[in-house]
Formats: sequence, structure tokens, C-alpha cells
Amino acid sequence: MTQANRDGMALLARHGLRVTRPRLEVLRAFDHHDRLTGEDVYRLLARDASGISMATIYRVLAELAGAHILDRYVLGRGASVFARHRGGHSVHLACCRCGLVEACDDEHASAALAMLAASRGFVIAEAGVVVKGVCIACAASPDEDVAS
Ligand SMILES: [Zn+2]
Repeated sequence: MTQANRDGMALLARHGLRVTRPRLEVLRAFDHHDRLTGEDVYRLLARDASGISMATIYRVLAELAGAHILDRYVLGRGASVFARHRGGHSVHLACCRCGLVEACDDEHASAALAMLAASRGFVIAEAGVVVKGVCIACAASPDEDVAS
């Protein structure tokens, strides 16, 4: 049993999920990758000959997102990107064309969210903001509409 598996088991237990091999394998994929789509996870696990089907991977990703272990970012055209839930303030820029998701968790974003909340007497426990748009590479190639 590896340390990563022990961490994964503890994480699942803490969120009230039964420990299963697919859940551990999917979690492990996020150890070395910040953001992954279902297809990314499938490719990574297929490389290890895990034998876990695409349908199972999507089901597990939905379960982990439901338990707030992962965050799901829904992009245009039904595509989703998943990332480890970090809590605190997270701001992501998501490209609706190519699916790029970029974290911009800088102090300016946190300060702006805190000020916005404070101006209404609101105390933030945690914030997740997704700004949808078009990344710099896609903006430079004018072949498609921005609409999603
Ligand atoms: Zn893009």
C-alpha cells in the first residue's frame, strides 16, 4: 500500500465515501495533474492498464465532485474539467473553445472577492468563481464564434 493510496482512502472516508479501487485510481490521477477532463483521466488510467471503463470514470468523477473532493468546471458544449477542491478562494478562467482552464488564485482576486462580500456585510466561507471566455490562443484564431 502506497502513501498516496493511504491518503486517498483517508480522504474518501472523511467525505463519507466507501473506498473502492476506481475511486482511488481516479484520485491518484489528480496527484500529478491540477486539472483533468474525464478523457484525460481515462487516458492516464489506461496507460496503467487499470481496466476501468470510461463510464465508470465519469460516474466516479461525478461522485467525487458531489462529495466536494473535486470541483467541476462546466465549459461550453457540455465539457467538464475537474480539479482538486482546495477551499478558500479560487478563481479560474475557462476557455469555451478549447477547454483550457487556468487558475488565477492571486491575492488581487481574493481581495476583490472579500471586498465585494464585505460591502454587503457578508463573510465568505469559501468562494469558487469561474470566468468563461476565450483564451489568448483561441482569440487569435478567428475561425469560430465565441458562443457556447
Ligand atoms: Zn482556448
